[in-house]
Amino acid sequence: MKPAVLRKYLSSRGPAPNLGDYAATRAGFSWALARSELDGLPRGGLNIAHEALDRHLARRRGDKLALRWLGKDGTVRDFTYADLARHTNRFANVLRAAGIGKGDTVFTLLGRVPELYISALGTLKNGSVVSPLFSVFGPEPVQTRMQRGEAKALVTTRHLYERKVAPWRVQLPSLRHVFLIDGTEGSLPADTVSLAAAMAAASDSFDIVHTAAEDIALLHFTSGTTGRPKGAIHVHEAVVAHHITAKYALDLHADDIFWCTADPGWVTGTSYGIIAPLTIGTTMIVDEADFDAERWYDILRRERVNVWYTAPTAIRMLMRAGAEIVKPGTLDTVRFMASVGEPLNPEAVIWSAKTLGQPFHDNWWQTETGGIMIANFASQDIKIGSMGRPLPGIEAAIVDRDGDTLRTIAEPMKSGELALKAGWPSMFRGYLHEEERYRKNFVDGWYLTGDLAMRDLDGYFWFVGRGDDVIKSAGHLIGPFEVESALMEHPAVSEAAVIGIPDPVAGETVKAFLALNPGYEASEALRKELLGHARKRLGPAVAPKEIAFRADLPKTRSGKIMRRLLKARELGLPEGDTSTLESDEK
Ligand code: ATP
Ligand code: MG
Repeated sequence: MKPAVLRKYLSSRGPAPNLGDYAATRAGFSWALARSELDGLPRGGLNIAHEALDRHLARRRGDKLALRWLGKDGTVRDFTYADLARHTNRFANVLRAAGIGKGDTVFTLLGRVPELYISALGTLKNGSVVSPLFSVFGPEPVQTRMQRGEAKALVTTRHLYERKVAPWRVQLPSLRHVFLIDGTEGSLPADTVSLAAAMAAASDSFDIVHTAAEDIALLHFTSGTTGRPKGAIHVHEAVVAHHITAKYALDLHADDIFWCTADPGWVTGTSYGIIAPLTIGTTMIVDEADFDAERWYDILRRERVNVWYTAPTAIRMLMRAGAEIVKPGTLDTVRFMASVGEPLNPEAVIWSAKTLGQPFHDNWWQTETGGIMIANFASQDIKIGSMGRPLPGIEAAIVDRDGDTLRTIAEPMKSGELALKAGWPSMFRGYLHEEERYRKNFVDGWYLTGDLAMRDLDGYFWFVGRGDDVIKSAGHLIGPFEVESALMEHPAVSEAAVIGIPDPVAGETVKAFLALNPGYEASEALRKELLGHARKRLGPAVAPKEIAFRADLPKTRSGKIMRRLLKARELGLPEGDTSTLESDEK
């Protein structure tokens, strides 16, 4: 079937896109040129925080608004680039005074509050490694991550500390310093320090510690969608990719107001929720509150957001909330909208074009890649359902792995593993304590992503599914994404997850788990209708044989559907690592 193409949506608002001509930009691109858009440290070396903050001060842009923080309770706090530079200097001095040095790991366990942004960038100025943890993790995932990362310091709140760290702290002797952002001196738990008091006593000038491009900067744990989360190690050189990919794939310009909705506990919230918007010089919006459709639309309008980066889980919730709550003028200033983290079903692209007046642009990357690798660009046609094309500087291919050799699949629209030519700046440099596992991902100079995809004749990539989630049924290789997207077309379906169930004849059969939109009830008649709809759309070989209705599908904290858990539960198998499973525990 020929895919639907959405002719390039080029907003008449704002500046011309950073990437105008795809082929020409790719041809003229080199990582050395991308690097030359940044400064480097005055005495050589490269430091992410310098590029994000101090570089702008040197260019007299210190007064520009860098971060507007929207508190849950309606408080608004503004920070200019100069403010952030000063606060991060203080924080770096606090670390230095505490004896925390280059290469030591500093964890944060904070909601989206200004102290999180200040600690992360201040840690980088001190040459230390930052690892931001999602504040809604329970004590167990916090402990395993901090133990694996040999945490030297932690920045958190009193409440989070007492509930999630204090009970096991004696088991982590490396953790020498705990800074509490809300503790007042005199009433603090034992062995903790008031961050405010330490900051007040510290100087607001700091000479950034010399870091080389290859020095470790960030430790990010993967989402745990397919198993035990891995700790991906990133270096300061990653900033080159953060900067240039935000420029091209998110079309970020210095005058933009940018809102990335991801929490910095996930890699998106760091690469594009802290670093890239600041290296570009934008104003970034940070909302402390959890998802709320009306609040989100209100933020877009009130804060005059130009570029908006979010995720399919949020888009599905917006779709569920209905079009009626989109007030006129909501997207008047928005020029570009993008999505990442999970496959973006065609239905969501069509919905956004219709209801919001412009489409979400899907892009693809992973914790391991550190930055966006494949994207639908502002100036290019969107092929609905495609992840887009590789960024300049990125070579992507569809391959078949056979032990230590690779075979490139040249045939268009044939599924295979998505591979990237190794060597881009934000490529992870290791899995923490899992050297063997890291090396296994590389064959013949290519990084194998573990995702299956196809490439069409125009060079657009199409997501098929995660390698682990693909279903083999009666000689067919079935990608869950295709089946889920077809089911999502039905007005009753709000979310879909498809898995393979072992079958003595077919090998596996397809089973779908569906959550319904408001106004629809699970019934035998609806099940029959949906089975019929799927058969008509997909043919009997690919359509699900079984459908089960669920009020909610199991998801990670970042909103990704955990198909492996549905399968384990269905087959009565062990559930494996569920530390990132979403639950009501706060
Ligand atoms: P884990 O590796 O621990 O199982 P995870 O792979 O979900 O978790 P992340 O690094 O946060 O951890 O997510 C990257 C993965 O998310 C990709 O490998 C891919 O499977 C999926 N993904 C991201 N963006 C897209 C997209 N645009 N389309 C389809 N899938 C996507
Ligand atoms: Mg992964």
